[in-house]
Amino acid sequence: MKIVVIGGGIGGYTAAIKAAQYKAEVVLIEKGKLGGTCLNRGCIPTKAFLHDAHIIDAVHTSKALGIFDSVPNHNVQAIIDRKNTVVERLRDGIASLCKANKVELIEDEAGFIDSHTIVLKNSQQKISADVFIIATGSMPHRLPVEGAQSDEVWTSDDCFDTPVLPGQHVCLIGGGVIGVELATFYKSIGCNVTVIEAQKRILPNMDRDAANQLATLLKKQSVTILTNAFVKEIKSTPPFQVICTVNDIEHKIVADRIIQSVGRKAVFSELKPENARIETSKIIQVNDAYQTNIPHIYAIGDVNGQSWLAHAAAAQAKVAMDHIFHPYTKPHKLLIPSVVYSDPQIASIGLDETMAKEQNIDINIGKFLVSANGKHVVEGKDRGFIKIITDKENKILGCTIFSHLASEMIAYMTQAILTNQTIESLESVVFPHPTITESLEDAMADVLGLAIHSFPKVR
Ligand SMILES: Cc1cc2nc3c(=O)[nH]c(=O)nc-3n(C[C@H](O)[C@H](O)[C@H](O)COP(=O)(O)OP(=O)(O)OC[C@H]3O[C@@H](n4cnc5c(N)ncnc54)[C@H](O)[C@@H]3O)c2cc1C
Repeated sequence: MKIVVIGGGIGGYTAAIKAAQYKAEVVLIEKGKLGGTCLNRGCIPTKAFLHDAHIIDAVHTSKALGIFDSVPNHNVQAIIDRKNTVVERLRDGIASLCKANKVELIEDEAGFIDSHTIVLKNSQQKISADVFIIATGSMPHRLPVEGAQSDEVWTSDDCFDTPVLPGQHVCLIGGGVIGVELATFYKSIGCNVTVIEAQKRILPNMDRDAANQLATLLKKQSVTILTNAFVKEIKSTPPFQVICTVNDIEHKIVADRIIQSVGRKAVFSELKPENARIETSKIIQVNDAYQTNIPHIYAIGDVNGQSWLAHAAAAQAKVAMDHIFHPYTKPHKLLIPSVVYSDPQIASIGLDETMAKEQNIDINIGKFLVSANGKHVVEGKDRGFIKIITDKENKILGCTIFSHLASEMIAYMTQAILTNQTIESLESVVFPHPTITESLEDAMADVLGLAIHSFPKVR
């Protein structure tokens, strides 16, 4: 079987390698850089920046503890250079994996001629295949207000692609995951940061308590957060200004750099899906197996608008491949965790309190403050909590972790939900001591009112 994958981001290269594991003849076409958004302008660059930001924060904390006499200046160019080294190393790794799996890699832009053929823009080569995987990803959205379309107004892409710093005062429009992660980085390297959010709180899709507590912490670190704030206009020539209204009162924010982080939009217009009669709206619609309305054409990752997360794109790629090679097996439903790499991090899976209320589900809640966990205190990371949601039979339905290393802990709770665990069925799991993950044990025990490191609940 011949499979053509269009787009070499995390969705596309995962699909290509998985197809090769199924012994298909595979062609992977990428018009830009292998690794796509995640590797070049997304997950990895932000986390490289945030890693260095944590080092800077740690030096400041260490001075306060008397470990250092003074805080040395940091070198921002070194931060950018290190990010580039990390990205290039990982990109080379993906290229090697493709080669080792005999995936033919083509650098070009693909567009459909009909439902069985694509043409490459530069070489004009035509390629036919039995199956196509569309993995063309997404790009930053811009607000539909005056000034927002100007190149002088950055999106997240420019934060990594432009070799200049944003300046002393950075104004971020959008307090979602990307806005909060960028705010965390820029405040750590010493910028004054303002975040403008249209909803009543930052991170409106995350647990309310975690989002509110994080907002309080950011404000303590001098980040200005304006909520219920509607941007009316952006003045896109220096001095840059954002004009917004908060409760009908006009505010003008003057900044050295304005960055919009107001969501993403699917990329597929150059692909000419209409030539293959693929149905589209703002996204490419798919079914549970990630098939479009044309059964031998699949669409995975950001382009189908289901998740906008890198691990979701990779997981969808595997489900799509399994469906191609085992078409009569029901595709398994994915349970996708979300993470904000703030400080502390927020990670969540499954149901939260708000969703339970909306769906009229009776729940029990276990909550543990990480300040009572030895390892959190040892590491000076004692802010945050873990919340476990169960049904009335104590079956685990959801979890929010607002804590240091939350991103590393959430997979345990994801597995617990996937395998239908109850609090009682996990009671005999022994966590090593002292660890950050022991907090999960206490949070789960708290559902029964039996956490060792929490004060007894009033009975
Ligand atoms: C700042 C930022 C931080 C993020 N952090 C995280 C995070 O921490 N964790 C997380 O899970 N997600 C994160 N994301 C989201 C994540 O990057 C995306 O969900 C993920 O990259 C989607 O993968 P994809 O394969 O669907 O698309 P993409 O990674 O966008 O790849 C699509 C590729 O297709 C290529 N392409 C498009 N059209 C064509 C064509 N016609 N022919 C050939 N090639 C084409 C593009 O050049 C691109 O390389 C972040 C995003 C941003 C912007």
